[in-house]
Amino acid sequence: THFGYRDVPEADKARLVGEVFTSVARKYDIMNDLMSFGVHRLWKRYFVATSGVREGDAVLDLAGGTGDIAALLLPKVRPTSTGTGRVVVGDINGDMLRVGRDRLLDRGLVHGLDWSRMDAEALPFPDRSFDCVTMAFGLRNVTRKENALAEIHRVLKIGGRALVLEFSAVRAEFLKPLYDFHSFQVLPRIGALIAGDASSYRYLAESIRKHPDQDTLKAMMETAGLARVDVRNLSAGIVAIHRGYRV
Ligand code: SAM
Repeated sequence: THFGYRDVPEADKARLVGEVFTSVARKYDIMNDLMSFGVHRLWKRYFVATSGVREGDAVLDLAGGTGDIAALLLPKVRPTSTGTGRVVVGDINGDMLRVGRDRLLDRGLVHGLDWSRMDAEALPFPDRSFDCVTMAFGLRNVTRKENALAEIHRVLKIGGRALVLEFSAVRAEFLKPLYDFHSFQVLPRIGALIAGDASSYRYLAESIRKHPDQDTLKAMMETAGLARVDVRNLSAGIVAIHRGYRV
């Protein structure tokens, strides 16, 4: 009576597995939109628009997951057949990478893109490989952030830029009670309703609170060797962009 994979013919099995991942990806998108009222799209667009990435650059998008940042970066680096202009998407989770690769493939984005599993704490590249390393909503999840920042510094070329987009500390007093209510009351309920998973979204709110604030992350980047580090708050510090250079 129960529906076991054993009973499913090979071709259908592949399709079933595919549907599972499709639904995961769809939920991931919907959740991002619901949780941020769609604003995460604007944050990401602004992040890439102000990245300073230019034609011909080699960019590593760390924790690149479902490819949102890579899709925005690609038209800026303008890949050529001689190999200049490329974006490497690195993520520790193979499922996220597969979903991202399929999603961008559907949009015709293939050329100049590489998808590769890696741990931000131990990057599989030689020193001074990239003009820019981006990391959007990823650093928060890394266990030893100082290792990831040191690795980002190591793989940057001289003059290269590290760009981190991450939740940060809200700066506007009037927003704080609203933000707390949204994080601890609304978010877990949306999580339960849409993803059937309230506890993960409670964890998400807590991980955001535990993440180093603007000044702390700036100091961590400096300790990792990055120079001229500056911070730009978006939406009153709900998220911030940290930028630093290898000199
Ligand atoms: N950058 C994408 C975006 O902005 O939508 C994805 C962000 S998602 C919230 C966080 C990603 O970080 C996940 O895909 C996860 O697999 C990845 N991640 C977590 N720890 C990592 C690590 N140590 N190294 C590389 N990626 C990691």
